[in-house]
Amino acid sequence: MRKKWVIGNWKMNAHSDFVAEWAEQVAKQQAVDVAMAVCPPFPYIATLKQKLTNTNIQLGAQNVAATDEGAYTGEVAATMLADLEVSLALVGHSERRTLFGETNEDVAEKCQRLAENGILPIVCVGETHAEREQGVTENVVAEQLAPIVELIKTGLRPVIAYEPVWAIGTGLTATPEQAQAVHTFIRQELTKVSAEVAESTSILYGGSVNRDNAAALFSQADIDGGLIGGASLDAEHFFTICQAFNSH
Ligand code: PEP
Repeated sequence: MRKKWVIGNWKMNAHSDFVAEWAEQVAKQQAVDVAMAVCPPFPYIATLKQKLTNTNIQLGAQNVAATDEGAYTGEVAATMLADLEVSLALVGHSERRTLFGETNEDVAEKCQRLAENGILPIVCVGETHAEREQGVTENVVAEQLAPIVELIKTGLRPVIAYEPVWAIGTGLTATPEQAQAVHTFIRQELTKVSAEVAESTSILYGGSVNRDNAAALFSQADIDGGLIGGASLDAEHFFTICQAFNSH
């Protein structure tokens, strides 16, 4: 049975009061049957970690440097995330790729730094609207995955998040069938490593997941959870999305 995840990505949203309120809301929620994590902006990782001590919500980061510590102003090394006991980190989010020019090779380097420090990489892949219209979704996703597949061959075991760019923050969600089709393709790509890897790798969907559409998406055979942006800012919505698994 593959591990099921719901991971919140706060992006560049939060302030101290928000963090305190979010943690307070969490304390009121019921237990859920899924691994949970939240990725706040870097400055709030330590505070949130402390506030979530008595919960089973893991802490994640939204990014990491591709290099080891050193003269890289503004960067945050994987060693530092490990020091803060961060469990996982997003890599290759489409906003990092499009706004900050991250390449597939950068994403692979980041994965390696994370793995060296015992942090689970959540590798984001996905096509733009134009690419979907051109019918090249699978080519784009395969190209993004290629260096990651090579790392998996060396023993790295990331989680993959399929996030169609046209669905991120737009309110346009992929239909469960559209998402399932790409998840099946990703799993097939992973058979290049082994059938066991393909079968055991968790593949999450992200892109305007909310409490109304989560259950239908998560009921698909190859969707092992969600990467949640906007809806994760509301702790109650986040937990309702997590509970979508309890109804299976
Ligand atoms: C994301 O940022 O990874 C994301 C999926 O955002 P949203 O849920 O807001 O579309």
